[in-house]
Parts: sequence; structure tokens; C-alpha cells
Amino acid sequence: MAQYPELVVNLEKLKHNVETIVKLCEEKNIKVAGVIKGFNGCLPMVNAYRAGGVKTIGSSRMEQLKEVRKMWPNAETLMLRIPMLSELDSLVKDANISLQSELTTLKELNKLCLENNLCHRVILMVDLGDLREGFFKKEELFKAAMEVENSKELILEGIGTNLGCYGSIEPDEENLGKLCELAKQIEQGIGRELAVVSGGATTSLQLVLNNKIPNKINHLRIGDGILLRDMENYFDYTLNEMNEDVFKLSAEIIEIKEKPTYPIGTISVDAFGNTPEYTDQGIRKRALLAVGRQDIGDMNKLHPYDENIKVFGGSSDHTIIDLTDCSNNYQIGDIVSFELEYENVLYATGSTYIAKEYQ
Ligand SMILES: *Cc1c(COP(=O)(O)O)cnc(C)c1O
Repeated sequence: MAQYPELVVNLEKLKHNVETIVKLCEEKNIKVAGVIKGFNGCLPMVNAYRAGGVKTIGSSRMEQLKEVRKMWPNAETLMLRIPMLSELDSLVKDANISLQSELTTLKELNKLCLENNLCHRVILMVDLGDLREGFFKKEELFKAAMEVENSKELILEGIGTNLGCYGSIEPDEENLGKLCELAKQIEQGIGRELAVVSGGATTSLQLVLNNKIPNKINHLRIGDGILLRDMENYFDYTLNEMNEDVFKLSAEIIEIKEKPTYPIGTISVDAFGNTPEYTDQGIRKRALLAVGRQDIGDMNKLHPYDENIKVFGGSSDHTIIDLTDCSNNYQIGDIVSFELEYENVLYATGSTYIAKEYQ
């Protein structure tokens, strides 16, 4: 018997999405590193990435890259988060390439490579205004580039940037143009071309599709844009050949009752110390699902397959939905299914409470 909550992943649809994105980028001479952190590096999905034509597998978690390497010893792996000094041992063993932004870390990395007779490829990160990782001062970037170039064990693979993560800054011709300019200056300094100018993540895809990506950008690191189509809600493009239903979450109804929509009593904070907005819509037919924030993150981001269902909200272990407008007469024990957004996929694939099925 099926076990709920359940996450069904359609690997064929995923592979098709990978092929579509890889091909689109190839047309602009852009290599795609397939990012697996959004689904916790689940190996059947990594396999679909590889089958779909992704050569480099990227993650922000060393643990995931280690599993990839165990399964496919020859896979090319890219560490996305600036590494901790305490994980460099693992980095040199299980990642071929890493994003870097600190001289201290690069020096340690070089030392480790020397000791173990290994080499490691480095992409130096530049902060163009999103204010998460990366060199902010040009001089520091150039100094690090020379340092890596002159070290024996580290290979300066290129430079890159990340946008649209903390500061919500949109990649555009101006900020990515700056990255290309910096790449040219470094190339002059070292007297050769850089292999990689990495222009960001899924949020840079729109520039590829609208023919606005600067010529020199030849690498993107993409996760979200392969898995889902949620970015189409925020940016000016549609990719109808992409599947939006790679993932399906199903949960079971444990209570159905007519209740008011506005809480009764003094409103203070919910289970997480927040005060959501409650709107009074009168008495509605409400159902409780046995799935909650611990399993899927924010349930308000779920999209019910039955378009007449609305999500009210929930708590750690419960999701509350509105059945009032449904033509289907739902009963206790019935299963309700949803499409997911990035946050939901991230939580659901990592939850030990959710049964995972691959199709
Ligand atoms: C997560 C991440 C990516 C991929 O982001 P998506 O939005 O999933 O495409 C790329 N680069 C870095 C540094 C990241 O941390």
C-alpha cells in the first residue's frame, strides 16, 4: 500500500528538462553545471541530469558531491558554497572544481593539494551587488587571481558571480558586462584565456532566452530552472517545452469540518512566532492534511492539482485547505496532490517522513 505523504518524481520529465536547458545554452556556447542541492542530491535525479547531457554536477554540500563520486567515480564535481577550512580534506578528494573568495582558504587548499599530490580547479567569485559571496574589491580579486595562477597545484579555471540570491539583484547586461570586463583584465594579466566565465544561476537564464547574455559568459550553474518553471512567474520568458510537473506531492485528508476562517480569541503568534494575516471569509469547508512545514516548508507555495482547492496555511505537521468550492466530494482518507515550488522540493526531498517514488 502507498505511504503518505508521498513525493513522486518523474525522471523522464526531469531528463527532458535537462536536455532542453542544456541545448538552449549550448546554442549560445554556454556550458551548464547541473545543480543538485535543490533536491538534496538524490541519486536517481542526478542520474537523470547525467542522462540529459550535464557534464558537471554542482552542489553547495560536500556530502552530496561525495555521494555522487561514490556512485560515479569519474563525474566532474563543482562545489558551490565557499568551502569551510574544516572541509578542505573532503573538497580535494570529492570535488574537481570549487568557487572561492578567500586567500586564506586558497592557501590552505594549495597546501593540501601539495601534500596529497592532487590538483584542484578554482573559480574566483566576484560580488556584483547581490552582497552574498565574492570579492568586492577589484584589487583583491586580481591579487587572488595571480596567487592561484602562480601556485603549482591550483588551476585558475575562471571567474564567476552569483546574483538574485540574497540581495534579489537581477542579472542584466550591465552587471554581467562588468564580470566579462574583469575576466578580460585578468586574462591580460596572466597572458591566457580563462576557461570559464560563470554568469550565475537560474536567474541568468532569461538573458540567454532573450539574447541578452554577454558573449563572454560561457558557463551557468543551474538547478531551479531545470526542476521547475516557477521563475517564469517573475521573469519575462516562457519555455513551453519544459515540464512543470516533474514533482508531485500527495497527502492524506485526516479531518473535514465546517469552521470559520477568522481565528477566535486574542491573536498573538503562530507556532513559528509569526503572525500571519487572516481574512474573514465566513464559514468554509476545511480539511486537514497530514503534511506540514517540517516536510515541505511553506505550504502556501503548494499548487493543488484540483484548482478549486485553496491552501489556508498550516503548522509543523498540518496543512489546512479549503474544499468549499470543490465539485469533488472529498472524504476522510482521500488523497490530495500538489505541484511544488523550489522551497517545497528542497524540504520534501530532504524529509525522512516523505516516501519517495520514482517514475
Ligand atoms: C544554488 C546555487 C546555484 C544554483 O541556483 P539555482 O537557482 O538552483 O539555479 C548556483 N550557484 C551558486 C553559488 C549556488 O549557491
